[in-house]
Amino acid sequence: MQHEVSAIWHRLPADIVNRTERCVAAGCEQQSRSGDAHLFFRADDIAVPGRNFTRLLKIFSDYRVPLCLAVVPAWLTRPRWLALKGLAQDAASRWCWHQHGWRHVNHETKGKKQEFGPTRSRADLEHDIGGGRQRLENLLGQDFYPVFTLPWNRCDQKTLDVLEDLGYAAVSRSRGSRPPASGGLASVDVNVDLHTRKEKTPAAGWQNLFDELQQAIAAGHCGIMVHHQRMNRAAFDFLDILLKTLKTQKDLELVHFKNIIDEKRCA
Ligand SMILES: [Zn+2]
Repeated sequence: MQHEVSAIWHRLPADIVNRTERCVAAGCEQQSRSGDAHLFFRADDIAVPGRNFTRLLKIFSDYRVPLCLAVVPAWLTRPRWLALKGLAQDAASRWCWHQHGWRHVNHETKGKKQEFGPTRSRADLEHDIGGGRQRLENLLGQDFYPVFTLPWNRCDQKTLDVLEDLGYAAVSRSRGSRPPASGGLASVDVNVDLHTRKEKTPAAGWQNLFDELQQAIAAGHCGIMVHHQRMNRAAFDFLDILLKTLKTQKDLELVHFKNIIDEKRCA
């Protein structure tokens, strides 16, 4: 399958290192007046091993940065899982393997794409969510963590109800998604998009990306979405620069979902 590459990844700007450092430093400076800050990365559409996946894991391993991995249950097989797991041997606690929908297909005929949208019945949702979880629990065992990342970052209230009833710890969508999660279901949402950006020009894309990143860090909650299948050389080079820069900020806590939820439970 051919995956589209966003305009910003055609070439990195010459001053990319400086710009990244300035952006992260400015976000931290604004944030430090308002308490603790955390930052996580969520990599979507995981299941099939390959060159980009290997490279992604190596960067996070090299910088010792945690990563949430959103696994599509229907795409995963035992040999695939053993290959993925084999690349993540160095520190089991760095990786948060969790669920990304069921088959990652769109069921809506109108409007935005959704796997868990308004046309699905409660029985359909229970079947897909519960079946997906069962499959991941069987294959991943102790490595599975019950957070649900929505394909296309959206769903309706019925889905949130099913997730809560099935005992998921949290749901992950875009920051500010409606309807909001409530009750026992926490939200661990993303607010920075690296690889599915839609801007027509690289200049507009970089401006918006740096604005998003600075605001997210300043707000004390930064969730960065990664799509390894759409990454080219420039995208990997930037990820390297970003992780290196983030590691220099001691007040910024680099975490994954389980760290955030354990912290909420202790608070
Ligand atoms: Zn996805």
